[in-house]
Amino acid sequence: MRTLLPHAELRDVVLRPAAIARVWLGVGMPLETVAVPGVALAAGDALVAVELSTICGSDVHTVRGDRSSPVPVVLGHESVGRVIAIGEGGAHTVEGGELRVGDRVVWSVTVSCGTCDRCAAGTAQKCRSLAKYGHERIEPRWELTGGFASHVHLRRGTSIVRAPESLPAAVLAPASCATATAWAAVARAGRDLDGVHVRVYGAGLVGLSAAAIAADLGARVTVVDPSEQRRRLAERFGVEADADIESPKVVIEASGHAVAQAIDEVDVGGTVVLVGSVFPAPPVALDAEDIVRRLVTITGVHNYSGSDLSAAVGFLAGRGRAYPFGDVVGAVHPLADADGALADAAAPDAPLRIGLVPR
Ligand SMILES: [Zn+2]
Ligand SMILES: [Zn+2]
Repeated sequence: MRTLLPHAELRDVVLRPAAIARVWLGVGMPLETVAVPGVALAAGDALVAVELSTICGSDVHTVRGDRSSPVPVVLGHESVGRVIAIGEGGAHTVEGGELRVGDRVVWSVTVSCGTCDRCAAGTAQKCRSLAKYGHERIEPRWELTGGFASHVHLRRGTSIVRAPESLPAAVLAPASCATATAWAAVARAGRDLDGVHVRVYGAGLVGLSAAAIAADLGARVTVVDPSEQRRRLAERFGVEADADIESPKVVIEASGHAVAQAIDEVDVGGTVVLVGSVFPAPPVALDAEDIVRRLVTITGVHNYSGSDLSAAVGFLAGRGRAYPFGDVVGAVHPLADADGALADAAAPDAPLRIGLVPR
């Protein structure tokens, strides 16, 4: 719970019609509708009108009860929208530019304090007083906390990135989860990928995005996924299907189900980037001697930094245009039918993303 500022330091924004948030109350319960007729913006805050939000796999896991979440919560952490109001003294993009009303933006999942030891050490995504869009219990003066809403109240400490007008919303909305996480995972490999064999486990949107980013950096990319449909989709993201090539120098484990295989098969001197293990799973036995003798690096990525988000948007707006990112969004539902959208997203063989639009 953040400290409530004296009201005099806040900019009141009245919304007519009221902003609408769809609030999740617990497993098996329909979403509740909450009307928010106004927000109070602190310095550095911004209010964004949502253009499109997409439903991430973790939203589906929450709704199924596979992961715990405080309630009541406004789910959704993948959105693109337009700034309609800014707190006193202005707000800034992650690159340091002045944010303006009318800017089309995407924003980080995380809100960081900017002053604690972890923020100071460059790991603001693990801030000691971290808040996350789509993950927090709604609270007084911060109700519009997730993407399943007509508006999102961005707090100071959010990494905000301007989004090019020419990019489709379906390409931009997932940037703040899948694309930025994929960018962080590929960067964590920490090496020149030109001509390097990169294997990606899991062809969900993080895996596909990582594959496209690595392929664009010159890597030969193979993908392992049990779904034939997803493997075929991966071919359109720069992946060599059924390629018979040497042990991978880099393995990006984006499924959470192949950690042991990833460590086992990585080449001598290689790096395993674990990014898919974001749900409880049995521990994996580790042969330390084998890791030592093969000079293997194992590293984890969770959330991402503001510069990763900025780079991810830069990729989507540039060389990423060569890949069919927009095609991953299947049906788009109105916010009023967010329950139907969640059911669609949870269906077997669902498209990678289902969209939600305010109206
Ligand atoms: Zn997500
Ligand atoms: Zn901090």
